[in-house]
Amino acid sequence: MTSGLFRAFGEPGLRGTSGIYARAELLYTILPTYDENPHRRPVGHVPRVACRVLPQEDATFVLPPILTFLDHFIPDRMSLSLQGWHLHETAAQLTLQVTATRTRVRCPLCQTPTARVHSRYPRTLADLPWGPYTVRLQLRVRKFFCDHPTCARRIFTERLPTVAAPWARRTLRLAQRLLACGLALGGEAGARLGGRLELRTSPDTLLRLVQEAPRPAAAAPQVLGVDEWAWRRGQRYGTILVNLEDHQVLDLLPERSADTVAQWLAQYPTVTIVCRDRSALYADGIRRGAPHAVQVVDRFHLVKNLREAIEALLHDQRPALQAAAASTAQALTQVAGLVVAPPMYRGRHRCSQAGQQRQEAAQQHRHAAWVATYEAIHTLHAQGTPVTTIAAQLGISRPTVYAYLRRTRPPSPRSPQRSGQVLRPYMAYLIQRWREGCTDSMQLWRETQALGYAHSARTVSRFITRLRQASAAGWAPETQTSPYTRPQGPSARAVSFTWVCPEAKRAQDAQLYVDQLTQADPAIAQAYTLSQAFLALVRERRGDALAAWMAEASASGIATLARFAQGLQEDLAAMQAGLTLPWSNGVVEGHVNRLKLLKRQGYGRAGVGLLRQRVMQAV
Ligand SMILES: [Zn+2]
Repeated sequence: MTSGLFRAFGEPGLRGTSGIYARAELLYTILPTYDENPHRRPVGHVPRVACRVLPQEDATFVLPPILTFLDHFIPDRMSLSLQGWHLHETAAQLTLQVTATRTRVRCPLCQTPTARVHSRYPRTLADLPWGPYTVRLQLRVRKFFCDHPTCARRIFTERLPTVAAPWARRTLRLAQRLLACGLALGGEAGARLGGRLELRTSPDTLLRLVQEAPRPAAAAPQVLGVDEWAWRRGQRYGTILVNLEDHQVLDLLPERSADTVAQWLAQYPTVTIVCRDRSALYADGIRRGAPHAVQVVDRFHLVKNLREAIEALLHDQRPALQAAAASTAQALTQVAGLVVAPPMYRGRHRCSQAGQQRQEAAQQHRHAAWVATYEAIHTLHAQGTPVTTIAAQLGISRPTVYAYLRRTRPPSPRSPQRSGQVLRPYMAYLIQRWREGCTDSMQLWRETQALGYAHSARTVSRFITRLRQASAAGWAPETQTSPYTRPQGPSARAVSFTWVCPEAKRAQDAQLYVDQLTQADPAIAQAYTLSQAFLALVRERRGDALAAWMAEASASGIATLARFAQGLQEDLAAMQAGLTLPWSNGVVEGHVNRLKLLKRQGYGRAGVGLLRQRVMQAV
């Protein structure tokens, strides 16, 4: 009988309606006339099923007494029993009247069982909604006498631990869902999502549920990751502690100090390995709180510090960086037959003589400030002032202080970018005319003169030659050039990142640039070889070879790398552990990122208590 219906599912355009008709199939039977002649039904339309309802003959479906049916939906059938129900259509509310079934209950204080009822009172609990209807349980709660002669509690209210918390206005299962919304999204967004899911509540209620939720019991952690997190970047930091074995956040501390870490660790004597960054502060805290634990320096921080040393080294090599950019552009042309296209015209860079002078004056002003900062930091550091104090005094971040301390001389001024400046405002026009087919540079010079250009025809001609070459090589004139072929060269920072990136992951132009840079300058080549050897130690975890590398770096005569090696010496045992053991703080960094998201979801208003709950209890 139902074969016609199944055939209908095979029709294109009718798929996806199977959910509806699967139920129809269970409840209805299709008439045979429809079955015989499927061509009467237009393809792509939901068929008007000519069916009649037949009494169900299937034994799966029964018509039970309604109370027996509804009884399945109350929270705990062992301790509650359904007495009656009432559906209020206008208010869309289903009220279930329930009573507690146990005749003997235990006193919450002395645990003695009792059956002597003192009184009854009504209690209403909100429960999970059913479709558009809100559901509430109307409960008659009993009070009992405690008959134990020495018990201080004479009368007590019976507890329903599987249904609701004492004094709660909602069932446990509703509270759990609301808690999940609050943990995942915080107050405001959680309440909005709850509204969409028919779990209506207020942001404050959600926050209270999150704050009151019991913290998960921490198993005795053995391998721990410690790192800082920023309350407010550059100003106030806290500490995050993560179990590196099961990746769970163990705690969030509101401060970053050796004392708090030591106190926290003292509660967990099971900790045998602690992974940390290179700060002396955490090293001290761990030494005091868990003296027997092995300290491990996180490999990410080692590579980060090496990269910073390389950046400092390259800061003073601006001419070499520029020269390598020029030879990279040439090499790229040789390899792929490409011609470097001019940089794309950016409209906001309108440049006049006065504007250029203003820019240069501003640059000189900035440079003077850098030199003053450099001298202040080095003076304070020489006097033994801690880096944190220097940062606070000068109003800059600690990484900036460290970056200045790595320098051996003040930063050099940035060279103004003059290339193509006079023509820059007219480049868009020239490119447009070029596309229209005008390639005569003298004609174009006259046109730009009419627009206000006051410089030589030769500059225009050079630009047109570059357009011609780029066009011959198949490059659109507005193609962005690689940062490694720009006339001013890439920044020291960008090169340092390429430098620590594994060769297999470098882009072709980046690799070519590194080749050009190292071929041109033997000192840079030596620094490159040394740093690659260090990165190999890190990647292959050869802690035993660290001492030999440090000796080589110290003897190399490259000041920044020698200083980096000397820094390793101060924390050698933890370094070697970091380069030998498999533990690393990647998981902790992941949780710090998650914490940043949680912080922003609270629009910066969440306190440490709320953040701790949300970061520790992932939904
Ligand atoms: Zn008692």
